[in-house]
Amino acid sequence: VSKEFQAMHDAHELLGKFYHHLLVNTKEGQHALEYLLERGFTRESIDKFQIGYSLNSWDFVYKFLSKRDFSPEWMEHAGLIIKRERDGTYFDRFRDRIMFPIHDRNGKTIAFSGRSLGLDEPKYLNSPETAIFNKSKILYNYHLAKPSIKKMQHAVLFEGFADCIAADRSGVENGIATMGTSLTDDHIALLRQSVQSVTICYDSDKAGIEAAFRAGNHLNNAGFQIKVAMMADGLDPDDYIKKNGPEKFRNGVIGASLTWMAFKFLYFRRGKNLQIEGDRLAYIEVIIKEISKLDKAVERDHYLRQLAAEFSLSLDALKQQLAAELSLSQDALKQQQKQIFFAEKRRTTG
Ligand code: ATP
Ligand code: MN
Ligand code: MN
Ligand code: MN
Repeated sequence: VSKEFQAMHDAHELLGKFYHHLLVNTKEGQHALEYLLERGFTRESIDKFQIGYSLNSWDFVYKFLSKRDFSPEWMEHAGLIIKRERDGTYFDRFRDRIMFPIHDRNGKTIAFSGRSLGLDEPKYLNSPETAIFNKSKILYNYHLAKPSIKKMQHAVLFEGFADCIAADRSGVENGIATMGTSLTDDHIALLRQSVQSVTICYDSDKAGIEAAFRAGNHLNNAGFQIKVAMMADGLDPDDYIKKNGPEKFRNGVIGASLTWMAFKFLYFRRGKNLQIEGDRLAYIEVIIKEISKLDKAVERDHYLRQLAAEFSLSLDALKQQLAAELSLSQDALKQQQKQIFFAEKRRTTG
């Protein structure tokens, strides 16, 4: 088995180099290079991230690898070529796409993500899950970002590759991205090895804000310190940097990130009109619930006062409601413990 794993790794390594060569040195790749430069990618980051181009051909990869004695079966297992049902012949998975190599934590190329140049769907095509690639365990750019993450004791989490690369170009070198999936326990376990403080910098559109809320809760439950960076006008980091430049991104976005609690205040406010009594009461209730989840009494007090001030409420009333909320969650906890106790008792007594 290990010989075949080695072959899968070697094929990715070789192909990654060749895709990059096609992009930067050949006529066939010229339109792809122009597309990237137009989008604001620099030659420096194209080299650093080994971005490439896959030819508009059905069998380039098949021939390229066969000539070098890679077995078609294993190249299929590696996700690089696909078998035709009808006659058992093979064709290339990635054709006429910008190629982003995906590396494992040691810097080995284990997969690709290919972006279409025009409006072709899907926009991003990933390698399938293989013996060497599991996207719920991989954080894009982790291998390059790790030294900086360790040094700064901080990581920045992005939604897309382009965001990660644009941020790097802007001097934010501790950026990583998921592969178009939500943040998993495995991602968190990987992060935990080097850091416990994360800024979430997802797209500031509706989908991105929802995803940031979920990722934040997940990280918060795992004990991470969290901040959330947001951009105006629903932009994503890459677009923001192209429009406003690196300095505004570093200082005005990353540097101005919200605390997790401040983000939640904003999050629960969206779509509500706080001039309307019903909306206002619903908002206050949900915020008190959030405050009740805070561990530190000082923090609870701080946010309660903030809430009282904003809505001209009596602090006493808020404190009473918080106390009710806290005893409710205490009851829930006791209830849970009781159930565990009885379940355990049933188990041991047979
Ligand atoms: P670009 O700037 O190149 O348009 P993006 O990163 O802004 O890309 P989004 O639509 O914000 O793209 O999606 C975020 C991430 O989700 C992408 O980087 C990619 O990893 C993943 N993704 C997006 N569309 C697809 C798709 N059709 N199939 C698989 N993954 C996708
Ligand atoms: Mn998005
Ligand atoms: Mn985006
Ligand atoms: Mn984008």
